[in-house]
Amino acid sequence: MEKLNTTVSVKMEANIVVLGTESVGKSALTVRLLTRRFIGEYGDIESIYSHSFIVNGREMTFNIWDSPYSEGLSTEMSLFHKKVQWADGYVLVYSICDRASFNTVSRLIQTIKSTKDYQSADKAPIVIVGNKRDLDHRRTVLSEEGRLLALNTGCLFYEVSAAENYHSVLTVFHGLVDRMKDAKLTSKRHLRFRGIVKSMSAVFARRRTDSL
Ligand code: GDP
Ligand code: MG
Repeated sequence: MEKLNTTVSVKMEANIVVLGTESVGKSALTVRLLTRRFIGEYGDIESIYSHSFIVNGREMTFNIWDSPYSEGLSTEMSLFHKKVQWADGYVLVYSICDRASFNTVSRLIQTIKSTKDYQSADKAPIVIVGNKRDLDHRRTVLSEEGRLLALNTGCLFYEVSAAENYHSVLTVFHGLVDRMKDAKLTSKRHLRFRGIVKSMSAVFARRRTDSL
């Protein structure tokens, strides 16, 4: 007699988009989360990385979309809308040494919140991340400013150093997952961006090529 397996394990999957201006540490943060390592230089790779973690005792796959910053072009705007449509959560990164990057994060929050896809969906959580905390002597954005922006916009806020610390980076993603709705994460729609899916090894392959 056929025995039914009643302990069906539900697959949890979250699409996360990392945004922010150039050189704030988006790739450093992503690579730190996935490999626990800081490799220094990352190039301008557009990638979606897939990686599984155990979060609160459950296996969870993160698809993390890391892309170079670009603003203003209409083709970029349509890509931006695709990201908003795809995302279950956002990591918006600025550098604590770069005020313009902080202003951009503030603008990005408004842009994300004003898109139709964001408004019609369950609101995907947004985390504001002030990176490069190790460069405190060059700080131009106060922690309080980040905290206040988060308070005013209903976002989470963390200051981290991708260069120095794995755990602070991990906290960012845990914070995000805690705010995501389970129902949304189990009924995953298919990835429609296979063309730019690359494996983690792409980062290291690129580095090797660069250093030749
Ligand atoms: P992206 O353009 O936002 O992807 O930025 P990258 O991840 O490529 O980082 C840009 C530069 O900042 C690189 O030289 C990194 O080594 C450096 N960087 C990234 N995160 C940190 C950090 O936490 N502290 C310091 N001191 N440098 C960092
Ligand atoms: Mg990058």
